[in-house]
Amino acid sequence: MHTNVIDCKDRHCIIGAGPSGLAQARAFLAMGLPFDVFERHKDIGGLWDIDNPGTPVYANTHFVSSRTESGFMGFPFPPGADFPRREEIIAYLHAFSDTYGLKKYIHFSSEVERVEQKDGFWQVTVQNQTRVYRSVICASGMHWEPNFPKIPGTFNGWQRHSKDYRNPEEFKNQRVLIIGAGNSGCDIATEAARNAQEAYISMRRGYHFLPKTMFGKPADIYERENEWMPFRFRQWVFGHMLNVLLGDLTRYGLQKPKHRILESQPILNSDILSCISHGDLRPKPDIQRLDGSTVHFVDGSSIDVDQIVYATGYKASFPYLNTEHIEWAGHGVAHFMTCFSRKHSNLFTLGFYEGNAAVFPHLELFADMIARYLLSQEQKTGQDKRLLEIANKEQGDLRGPIQMIDSPRHSAYCDWLTFRKRVRKLYRKLGWPMPVAEDFTTLRNCSDSLSQITA
Ligand SMILES: Cc1cc2nc3c(=O)[nH]c(=O)nc-3n(C[C@H](O)[C@H](O)[C@H](O)COP(=O)(O)OP(=O)(O)OC[C@H]3O[C@@H](n4cnc5c(N)ncnc54)[C@H](O)[C@@H]3O)c2cc1C
Repeated sequence: MHTNVIDCKDRHCIIGAGPSGLAQARAFLAMGLPFDVFERHKDIGGLWDIDNPGTPVYANTHFVSSRTESGFMGFPFPPGADFPRREEIIAYLHAFSDTYGLKKYIHFSSEVERVEQKDGFWQVTVQNQTRVYRSVICASGMHWEPNFPKIPGTFNGWQRHSKDYRNPEEFKNQRVLIIGAGNSGCDIATEAARNAQEAYISMRRGYHFLPKTMFGKPADIYERENEWMPFRFRQWVFGHMLNVLLGDLTRYGLQKPKHRILESQPILNSDILSCISHGDLRPKPDIQRLDGSTVHFVDGSSIDVDQIVYATGYKASFPYLNTEHIEWAGHGVAHFMTCFSRKHSNLFTLGFYEGNAAVFPHLELFADMIARYLLSQEQKTGQDKRLLEIANKEQGDLRGPIQMIDSPRHSAYCDWLTFRKRVRKLYRKLGWPMPVAEDFTTLRNCSDSLSQITA
């Protein structure tokens, strides 16, 4: 039962105070657009706060992207080891929010329960109170609803999704099977290799494994420095380098990848092949069926295990919104440039994509686009209409020059080079300046919170 309806038609609503919501808040401040943020948890930081109920991060989570490439514009990570731990990431996000004074715009412990369209505005209901907003930015994250594959049979041990894995202690004296070889699956499998009695990883297909560092630097820095290479040449160089370094992956008992390198989300992991070659982790193919504690595989082999961890990805979900308002492609969002709805000129999705590069620098470009679009709508300068015309003509596919292999996780895939090229082209067409670090300088508090982060 609604007690009252508050008119907020002059402002915009951001759902979520994770990295996406924070990036959007800073972009709105820089553009002078009024907004409110609602966050169901008691603090900022999104999934990087291990106390945020339901977060998929586990005790030893580190970035796979490097510290150098992962920061927001004008606010780099402080010096430290190449790949920040989750504690450093959450400290960084707090420093970011404090430096730009974002927390005062956030309503904490305020879960958005419903978002409904009415007369061209959005009614946002939080704890029985409804507010009417000019626009809604869904920045509520895409790692909260687990995806489980359908596997015939039943398992009578402990089974859970990787989002519920927390600590290597959970593997002690256990025979463990990890299903899925994405970045989380491989990380968790190496923890199982070092702590479980027996550890196995089931992979449906062959993968390319990239080391986290190449030629003495993080792989993403190496890739950026070589962005001048045409895609096919880059693919050839990476393929040859891995052949020289790792040789034939079937020697490890792995399946030979059917796709070429860079045609699937890269698996950045320097430990998994070492764990396999030490015999601490045993690769298995796809599962055929489960039977009590026995897992049968498609190659006719079987193992007995005590627990299964499903590292099988996530589905984008918006429990507060009728799904017909969203354009879908498989499990993912099919909005123009992953964020602009073609059905509603005032509904946006931010952070709903899979990609091959650090996420924060992308989020802030998406956030800048949304802010400029809404400013244009408000000032009636026409670029918003032009953008929608482009959105209705173009797919806005950011997957790049190659056909990514057919996998649900590639339905909303963003290749970082393609994305940056597309953004530059779009901004040129619309006459928008590309954002630069100086856009945010005046928003900084006098006391720079960067110094408060412990590296
Ligand atoms: C294991 C793992 C490793 C990763 N490694 C990297 C990496 O190396 N580099 C990298 O750049 N990225 C990495 N990521 C991607 C990561 O998702 C992003 O860094 C970032 O957290 C995305 O931010 P977000 O704000 O979109 O989503 P989230 O961080 O999920 O934040 C969403 C926020 O919305 C809130 N919320 C949800 N629903 C509601 C509601 N109804 N009402 C109010 N609030 C709501 C949530 O509480 C949460 O605080 C990794 C992700 C995972 C899971």
